[in-house]
Amino acid sequence: FLNIGVLGLQGAVEEHIKKIQELGYHGTIIKKPDQLDQIDGLILPGGESTTLRKLMDSYGFFQPLLEFSANKKPIFGTCAGMVLLAKKLEGSEEAYLKLMDIRVKRNAFGRQRESFEVTLPIQGFTSDFPAVFIRAPYIESVGNQVEVLSTYKGHIVAAKQEQILVTAFHPELTEDPRFFQLFIQMIKK
Ligand code: GLN
Repeated sequence: FLNIGVLGLQGAVEEHIKKIQELGYHGTIIKKPDQLDQIDGLILPGGESTTLRKLMDSYGFFQPLLEFSANKKPIFGTCAGMVLLAKKLEGSEEAYLKLMDIRVKRNAFGRQRESFEVTLPIQGFTSDFPAVFIRAPYIESVGNQVEVLSTYKGHIVAAKQEQILVTAFHPELTEDPRFFQLFIQMIKK
């Protein structure tokens, strides 16, 4: 039986667990690096990436997460989770896990648009997806291993590279399960 972990240090943790359970899978809140051995895929939720990376460092998650990824276990980063996976960040801030060849701009939609919802066409989906953005980042550029799944106003907001999936928006805050289904397919492969 598939067991999907959600990093449970800060942010939108319960919402992801609920989605996983609604689809009939086991969801585990991950609070310690040794729990990574029990799971088949990991979600890095939204929250505040600066806080998250400090907590991940103090709980010793950095190296174990690199190993998790090197073992080809799928990772799904939403919003702040996408920021943490990026190889490069815009501005002077150093990137963190650097597992995905994307350059990310944090809080990219500006103060005017703290949060908003739009329906977006997604590569591989047969109809538009309701995307909820909250102080969201976007992807400024991608390496050639990266598959762009969606753009909004010319900015990349969903992408995939091998076993890593990212969205700038929050699929756990909508009824539509398709991003979770996509991630589960990636795990089953
Ligand atoms: N602005 C946050 C950050 O850059 C992300 C916001 C979110 O995850 N909803 O860390």
